[in-house]
Amino acid sequence: MQVIESSKEYDVIIVGSGAGGGMAAYVLTKAGANVALLEAGALWDVAKDGAMFKWSYDSPRRGFGGKEKPFGEFDGCIGGWEMDGEPYTMAPGERWDWFRARMLGGRTNHWGRISLRWGPDDFRRKGIDGLGDDWPITYDDIKPYYDNCDRFIGIFGNNHASETGLHNEPDGIFQPPPKPRGYELLIKDACDKLKIPCVPARMSILTQPLNGRAACHYCGQCGRGCGTHSNFSSPTVLLPPAEKTGKLTVVPHAMAREVLSDDEGRATGVSYVNTTNGQETTLRGKIVVLAASACESARLLLNSTSPRFPKGLANNSGVVGKYLIDSTGMSVSGFIPKLVDLPSVNEDGVGGMHLYTPWWVDNRKLDFPRGYHIEIGGGRRMPGYGFMGGIEEHPGGSGGGYGKALKEEYRRLYGTGVGFALRGEMIPNKDSYCEIDPEVVDQWGIPVLRFHFKWSDHERKQAKHGQETFREIIQTMGGTVTTPWRDHDQDYGLEPGGRIIHESGTIRMGNEPKASVLNKYCQAHEVPNLFVCDGAPFVSQADKNLTWTILAFAWRTSEYIAEQWKKRSI
Ligand SMILES: Cc1cc2nc3c(=O)[nH]c(=O)nc-3n(C[C@H](O)[C@H](O)[C@H](O)COP(=O)(O)OP(=O)(O)OC[C@H]3O[C@@H](n4cnc5c(N)ncnc54)[C@H](O)[C@@H]3O)c2cc1C
Ligand code: SF4
Repeated sequence: MQVIESSKEYDVIIVGSGAGGGMAAYVLTKAGANVALLEAGALWDVAKDGAMFKWSYDSPRRGFGGKEKPFGEFDGCIGGWEMDGEPYTMAPGERWDWFRARMLGGRTNHWGRISLRWGPDDFRRKGIDGLGDDWPITYDDIKPYYDNCDRFIGIFGNNHASETGLHNEPDGIFQPPPKPRGYELLIKDACDKLKIPCVPARMSILTQPLNGRAACHYCGQCGRGCGTHSNFSSPTVLLPPAEKTGKLTVVPHAMAREVLSDDEGRATGVSYVNTTNGQETTLRGKIVVLAASACESARLLLNSTSPRFPKGLANNSGVVGKYLIDSTGMSVSGFIPKLVDLPSVNEDGVGGMHLYTPWWVDNRKLDFPRGYHIEIGGGRRMPGYGFMGGIEEHPGGSGGGYGKALKEEYRRLYGTGVGFALRGEMIPNKDSYCEIDPEVVDQWGIPVLRFHFKWSDHERKQAKHGQETFREIIQTMGGTVTTPWRDHDQDYGLEPGGRIIHESGTIRMGNEPKASVLNKYCQAHEVPNLFVCDGAPFVSQADKNLTWTILAFAWRTSEYIAEQWKKRSI
């Protein structure tokens, strides 16, 4: 095939336009660099293309989204666990579920917006409990960039450290949180009795206007994308100011195949396939930033082999692909009789929880290290297709029925369920990694990833503790637990790896080039003009979701790139 070589050389080529790539594009164009942003998916304008203002019954396919929209037809993200023409494989007997977005802005188009700033302990866990590794930076290094994100992107919440006494939950710069809903107050009441903190959630949704973006009007449909730009997504918050500089070239339908390098071991550009016609093109750049999501960025490096880097670009250490991590996940639901027969009230609020529980227990009193936070759910928001499926078995119901009686049953019982989801910290282990499958390629002939993944007893014990805690909360609310207990042989209810969609690791940072790929600025030890801006550089997870930290790191890395580029020292 003829390969088109672009004559223009960009200052920076960024691969991927999600959280990490969007932030890199914003900071680098603002610093004056000419940036090409390669995105495998199509362009997307949420105000025009999104389904924020539709009723559920407007769906021509009764909510069914198919493989491209596993979260439903009106969901804001094109992508999924399985994608036609883009397979991945797993080692026999192991499981990893890999969610990939394919559109401008990636998964930020429908992410949950839960934005939890990590604390000082989260960067030095080995020093505390001897497991895993410490980061090459501390909380103080990253704090100014969290502050930047709070101010520029916007986040609601409150500074609850003094109220809860939890030193690893640092303060931020918050907009006022929305008021708790009725069922959330009941949960809080039970938590208070059990001495479990239950405090305002921290979510990147505006409750006050910011930088020309409107405050949330509480339609509760964030997962469809926000047409008023009141929540965070890369294409509504980061890319518009980058485009305004006139320095940004967005290249959609551009599936990066390989990072190109020269004999001196410097990155020279990126080759990509145009997914609409299969045309292969090479783009030249002085600096390359990978932000294709943790596993895709690792795949790109592993596929970029040369005599100097036979195991993949920047991978003479052999660490690329290693230490794959996800958050732990486990859920328990309950029925709360106090909530039966409620009058109809509007409980919409933001698209997500108004209260949550940060990790609160001292590990010295437990048989497992690290922890989890609790995400709470329930209420009477706009129902979707299939809501309250299985009503005939509802513990508060009369066994189903037909016609008017069934409708009344729905009215009586809607909103009587509460749900608790554990999201916690996995400790990186050597059995969890991705590598290139030597036998399988995707529809463009690009070798695919093969995954290996194992939970350890650290995570299983955490899930057991979560099950016990969630049952206790439901019972304290006077409710009935509706999720069966899961035992050790069912991993105490842990979701399979990848299912929480918080994958990270795979191109880890560190001070030691033999044991890490990137230095403390997410710059490759072996390729000075190559950087990574997604979750791949992470040395460990936290008991908190990761995207606010991806954004803060991408800001810090991009600022460093801009300084070095201006000094011409990379
Ligand atoms: C349903 C859901 C809920 C979530 N909720 C939360 C939450 O509440 N809080 C939280 O912190 N996190 C949450 N997450 C995770 C969050 O979305 C991700 O951590 C974040 O989007 C990662 O950013 P990224 O830039 O690494 O990747 P992405 O946002 O996925 O962006 C990567 C982009 O790169 C593109 N790309 C991939 N490969 C290539 C290639 N070879 N060439 C060119 N382009 C490529 C993709 O098309 C995509 O647009 C959630 C995710 C999902 C799916
Ligand atoms: S709940 Fe608020 S932030 Fe979410 S889609 Fe509606 S208006 Fe936008």
